[in-house]
Amino acid sequence: MSDNVVEIHELTRHFWRKTALANITLSIPRGVVFGLVGENGAGKTTLIKHLLGLLKAQEGTVAVFGLNPVDDPVGVLGRIGYLSETRELPDWMRISQFMSYSQAFYPKWDRTYAEELRDMFELSNEQRIKSLSRGQRARVGLLAALAHRPEFLVLDEPSSGLDPVVRRDILAAIIRTVADEGRTILFSSHLLDEVERVADQVAMLHLGRLVLSSKLDEILDVHRVMTIQFPESLSSTPTFPGGFGWSGGGRDWTCVCNGELEILRSAVTDAGASIVEQRRPSLEEVFLARARGVSVAPMRSQL
Ligand code: ATP
Repeated sequence: MSDNVVEIHELTRHFWRKTALANITLSIPRGVVFGLVGENGAGKTTLIKHLLGLLKAQEGTVAVFGLNPVDDPVGVLGRIGYLSETRELPDWMRISQFMSYSQAFYPKWDRTYAEELRDMFELSNEQRIKSLSRGQRARVGLLAALAHRPEFLVLDEPSSGLDPVVRRDILAAIIRTVADEGRTILFSSHLLDEVERVADQVAMLHLGRLVLSSKLDEILDVHRVMTIQFPESLSSTPTFPGGFGWSGGGRDWTCVCNGELEILRSAVTDAGASIVEQRRPSLEEVFLARARGVSVAPMRSQL
């Protein structure tokens, strides 16, 4: 059996004339923390819904634990903990009722762990779900996703609604603990600094296309941020081969370079300009540059 928890091959999904996912191929190995990033409408939730069998592949294939989630929902969903982006919860229940109710669906529900999470999230048994704040709802959703100790944890925008302390101290710690136990996590997020802190691998969607999918360190290692000074002020954005996602103005411009360092360097010299700074980028810088420069070449690894 493959050691990949997820295998997606050439998945395409249209909603009427809109292409939400275009020819996506990616796999998620067992035991990794996999960050799915992309701007609003990039296709993150649509991809997650295919993993849960909530959407059927129109073209291509989706396998989770080697199974098709549409054909075998019981075999797949019983092993997944899922936090939805919309945090649907039964509003009329109290927290204690919700915990008993959720437990009924999962033979492996760990009552002790569920109580620990309830304490950690400062939720009281008596509270009714409809009276909870957005952040508290996110905590209840997380509790339900975690308490049966799923093999595969799928969190759609888990940080949304959580305050920075919970995000940084609790969510990040939970994600690391689950991964250290050899379980697998997929989480989508807009917060790239957070993804950079906890993810082992990252996939980046842009307008339904997969623009990057690699180990985080590899992504950061093959890209460079370059600041270039020109002899005279430029009236328009430079277009040098090898550089993309340009920003700046006047004589000073910054771009991201994807392994094409020599090509960019000689183009810069030919233009009488000079590279004044060169450094490793943050994930956010790579993401923004990729999103700005849509027709960027595939990732290279010869830096
Ligand atoms: P966000 O970060 O805003 O949640 P996302 O990356 O999760 O965005 P999706 O929700 O997957 O993006 O949406 C991808 C595209 O598909 C969007 O253009 C969205 O409008 C469209 N889409 C998603 N679901 C449907 C649907 N049921 N009917 C029509 N269009 C849809």
